[in-house]
Amino acid sequence: MPSPTHEWSRRGLLSMIGKVAGGGLMYQAMASLGHAQASSYRGPLQLSQSKKGGTVLVLGAGLAGMTAAFELRAAGYTVQILEYQERAGGRCWTLRGGDSFTELDGTRQTCEFDKGLYINPGPWRVPYHHYAVLDYCKRFGVRLEPFVQVNYNALVHSTQAFGGKPQRFRQVQSDLHGYVAELLGKATNQGALDQAVTKEDRELLMQGLKDWGALDSQYRYREGLVASEHRGYQRDPAGGLMPLAKPSKPIDMSELLRSRLWSQINIGQLYEFQTAIFEPVGGMDMIAQGFEREVGKLIRYNTKVTKIEQSAQGVTVSFVDARSGGNAQGGDAGNAVQQVKGDWCVCTIPLSILSQLDVQAGAPMKQAIAAVHYAAAFKVGLQFKRRFWEEDEAIFGGISYTDLPIGQISYPSNNFNSNGPAVLLGGYGYESTHAYEFTAMAPKDRIRAAVEFGSQLHPQYREAFQNGVAVGWHRVPWMLGCYGVWTEETRLQHYTNLCAVDGRIVLAGEHACYIPGWQEGSILSSLDAVRRLHEHAQAT
Ligand SMILES: Cc1cc2nc3c(=O)[nH]c(=O)nc-3n(C[C@H](O)[C@H](O)[C@H](O)COP(=O)(O)OP(=O)(O)OC[C@H]3O[C@@H](n4cnc5c(N)ncnc54)[C@H](O)[C@@H]3O)c2cc1C
Repeated sequence: MPSPTHEWSRRGLLSMIGKVAGGGLMYQAMASLGHAQASSYRGPLQLSQSKKGGTVLVLGAGLAGMTAAFELRAAGYTVQILEYQERAGGRCWTLRGGDSFTELDGTRQTCEFDKGLYINPGPWRVPYHHYAVLDYCKRFGVRLEPFVQVNYNALVHSTQAFGGKPQRFRQVQSDLHGYVAELLGKATNQGALDQAVTKEDRELLMQGLKDWGALDSQYRYREGLVASEHRGYQRDPAGGLMPLAKPSKPIDMSELLRSRLWSQINIGQLYEFQTAIFEPVGGMDMIAQGFEREVGKLIRYNTKVTKIEQSAQGVTVSFVDARSGGNAQGGDAGNAVQQVKGDWCVCTIPLSILSQLDVQAGAPMKQAIAAVHYAAAFKVGLQFKRRFWEEDEAIFGGISYTDLPIGQISYPSNNFNSNGPAVLLGGYGYESTHAYEFTAMAPKDRIRAAVEFGSQLHPQYREAFQNGVAVGWHRVPWMLGCYGVWTEETRLQHYTNLCAVDGRIVLAGEHACYIPGWQEGSILSSLDAVRRLHEHAQAT
């Protein structure tokens, strides 16, 4: 159970169900809460040619906005995209050396990474079942490489166990499996499962437990070569007359259970995180750039939408030049308001911002816009002068987990075994108290804290750290949060109204899907919205 200081967030609740009841039950809970839906993408959208053509104003040049523009232009519409920033991609964003960005309070950071190094402050991985993202990557020539999600040699760490000494993922997993297999084998042999398992199946179950749990011939999980084939050796097998392999000693069962480190080894079993998972070569914004190559000419950058009006004849969008100051949610006294007109509007501005704009829509859509709050999240990228995690600890990619406020450390999934500086993800938290705490800190304090906490897992941090960059998503002016949080109640009451075409306006984006916090959801939402808008336009 979460401690009283824990928030009952949806992801928190899901992870608790996962820890206590296992992956299967968690999947059911996730599906009912709107996570973990399989992508329904079945190939490129085939819109018929528009009978009358007409103009469409697309608001926001994230993946949802650019998908809408790409597909509607192909169907014969004249499309214009209005984008607040001077770049396309929205949350699909990569920070490299020389890039600057300014948070809500005016604090400006300039990334000091060496050439070729980067961090993805937002999306960083693409599961194999995100068919739409993968298909657009293929069509737009975006090269992918494997993202290492699970690394058996990475660390799991609790400040409350083993004197704060990090353990190896593979040892915790092997020992947990071994002890569970041994206990289940005992229960089976003592007849405790006679009601549940037939006599013939019992034999098979015992064989399965022996393999899965690395049990010895007596069905025991013990120090020895069999267990070492799962958890690793104290001294690895070698060659010639070198010393013989030495088995490693399992962690004491009670100590292992009380450490609760088993709760850190399950994430890779979730559908969302199962291999294969990919990342674009060179940074996540390669996907945004792929889209931008197709629709970049349609984008009007630095254009802050402040008002959306509609009538039976069309849509009028008011905007100001974002370079003259202010944040994405309007309210610039003295900044000349301009207008653009269109026949239709696809609005992909996140609800955290749209809810603060003047939008002329029916009450159901407006209530839906106001009903969704946004999860907090932070990420910290740290550059080190050498890849000590590889050189000293043989950790090649993957993620170490900790109960420290940084939550996790993710090692780069590329350029393995090379020399020189590299960047790792030194902290990432979402929908937790720590996510709010990190967001509230000044960027330099986030970096300092990430280095301080991270050095408890890797003391090399202290000698090897060079520079860092940190993003607190509630302080990103064009976003004000990480992703839209739906509850079962808000989905029931507002989701359909949010997605329905309202006169001449339809909303799309990450907030309007059943795969929240994933690019796949943004694209699917957009494809569905433009299909319905197109049908509506054809019928009008
Ligand atoms: C920390 C984090 C981790 C994530 N991890 C992953 C991951 O690993 N894999 C994955 O697939 N997805 C991940 N996601 C989710 C993914 O980033 C989003 O689902 C997706 O990028 C959202 O696309 P979108 O087009 O719906 O919205 P956005 O990308 O937010 O686009 C909205 C656009 O609207 C613009 N805008 C805002 N206000 C205005 C205004 N007033 N006028 C004009 N324009 C405006 C913005 O500048 C932006 O360009 C993550 C997100 C975050 C934040």
